[in-house]
Amino acid sequence: MTEAVIDDPDQLEMFPGLEPVEVIPESELSADQRRTIRQARMLAMGVHPLSSVTRSSLLLHDDAAREKHGAGLRCGGCRFRQTVRYRDKSYPKCARSAELMSRSAASDVRAWWGACRYFEPRPDTRGEGA
Ligand code: SF4
Repeated sequence: MTEAVIDDPDQLEMFPGLEPVEVIPESELSADQRRTIRQARMLAMGVHPLSSVTRSSLLLHDDAAREKHGAGLRCGGCRFRQTVRYRDKSYPKCARSAELMSRSAASDVRAWWGACRYFEPRPDTRGEGA
């Protein structure tokens, strides 16, 4: 079943095949949920989400995936994305620069992100990652 966000109940009759979904205001989302939304918006604009850490625009690779389920190169297929262990947890970080290895969740690198311009494929993949 296809879902849709329709604010005006009168409009539902115009789209009989769609089920309404509840709209959750961003103010009610968790910090992680809001961060994920911001990151997806940055990718859609052609800016890598780690730009919020570097405080300068980190451009996407020309062949980067632009959306979560789209085709293209991803951080998950990059040799610089490494798992760092701290105490009993592990965190995915970009090891290309020490600046990107902070303990903040803001510098965690999601495998689904589109690859940045510094992407280098992991030896065991073609770079598309998870
Ligand atoms: S260097 Fe690799 S892991 Fe780091 S941000 Fe770019 S694509 Fe992602």
